[in-house]
Amino acid sequence: MRLIFKAVLLMILGATLAVAKPTIYILATGGTIAGSGSGSLDSSYTSGTVTVDKLIAAVPDINKIATIKGEQISNIGSQDMNNEVWLKLANRINELLNSGKADGIVVTHGTDTMEETAYFLNLVVKSDKPVVLVGAMRNSGSLSADGPLNLFNAVNVAISKDSVGKGVVVVMNDEIHAAREVTKTNTTGVDTFKSPNSGKIGTVFYGNVKYYMNPIRKHTASSAFDLTGVKELPRVDIIYSHANDNPDFVNVAVKNGAKGIVSAGLGNGNPYFSVLEALGEASKAGVVVVRDSRVGSGETTMNGEIDDAKYGFLTCDNLNAQKARVLLMLALTKTSDKAKIQEFFLTH
Ligand code: GLU
Repeated sequence: MRLIFKAVLLMILGATLAVAKPTIYILATGGTIAGSGSGSLDSSYTSGTVTVDKLIAAVPDINKIATIKGEQISNIGSQDMNNEVWLKLANRINELLNSGKADGIVVTHGTDTMEETAYFLNLVVKSDKPVVLVGAMRNSGSLSADGPLNLFNAVNVAISKDSVGKGVVVVMNDEIHAAREVTKTNTTGVDTFKSPNSGKIGTVFYGNVKYYMNPIRKHTASSAFDLTGVKELPRVDIIYSHANDNPDFVNVAVKNGAKGIVSAGLGNGNPYFSVLEALGEASKAGVVVVRDSRVGSGETTMNGEIDDAKYGFLTCDNLNAQKARVLLMLALTKTSDKAKIQEFFLTH
């Protein structure tokens, strides 16, 4: 009798373990993945009109591999992404991961600013658990919409043990990219996301996750940043360079209270001569100026064609300008010491 009782107990235990699936929270922010248009061949559509429940319902297979919970953080086109949503999203992710409620997070997001949100989270999420950003280039009603497979792949990346400790990643078009490296490179193509300095770190093919590289810059649990006590982020502007430029935007940025400026300079981070002088003045006035490039890949080298020590400038290493802006904002929440901020650029 006792033996039968034990056998039944073991069977119940086995069955329970067999169905114990990881819990993945899908935090929806909007974007084309949640967009809809008037027809399946219509390229005009509105971002952020489909709710998280509908997104999840479009990919029933994800319920077989994980316990899926959905939350709507915002429902906006990511061109309208802002500090308030970033802080809300990051705080919620930290709460879900550190309370043990979630084993991984998938954030659905518009593609326009996905790289910035990914890098922001990469610097402020305090957990080794997977955090995956995903979106779509074709809206949910479009012919060959890419959102459902991207979402299925993202959930598979979020439940993969191999994703632990990789930092925040972006999953699009069967590829896995590290948050620090990834950027949108094409306005409409489904293969828009690339990591120009380093390449993708993995692939995900119908849910089959494979990694080939590890991001080595500090991120998530090992990052110097956290949001404890942070209620707002300082203003940091990007000034884009061009031939026959003028210093007006630098002067307006300083006048309007920018605490930092990222110069998206020409080539190896060279601003037009009058812009260079205005940036030097800004730096003298206490604004932290980071030289970057509008080129889109490669390092902006210290003291390349510009005497950075003379002007008091920092350099971005090889971060693009929109990510340098994110890092500089977070750095300024901790310190105004330029040597320390430069160190952040060389380690994060
Ligand atoms: N502007 C939209 C956004 O970023 C469309 C881009 C997309 O999601 O693909 O939300």
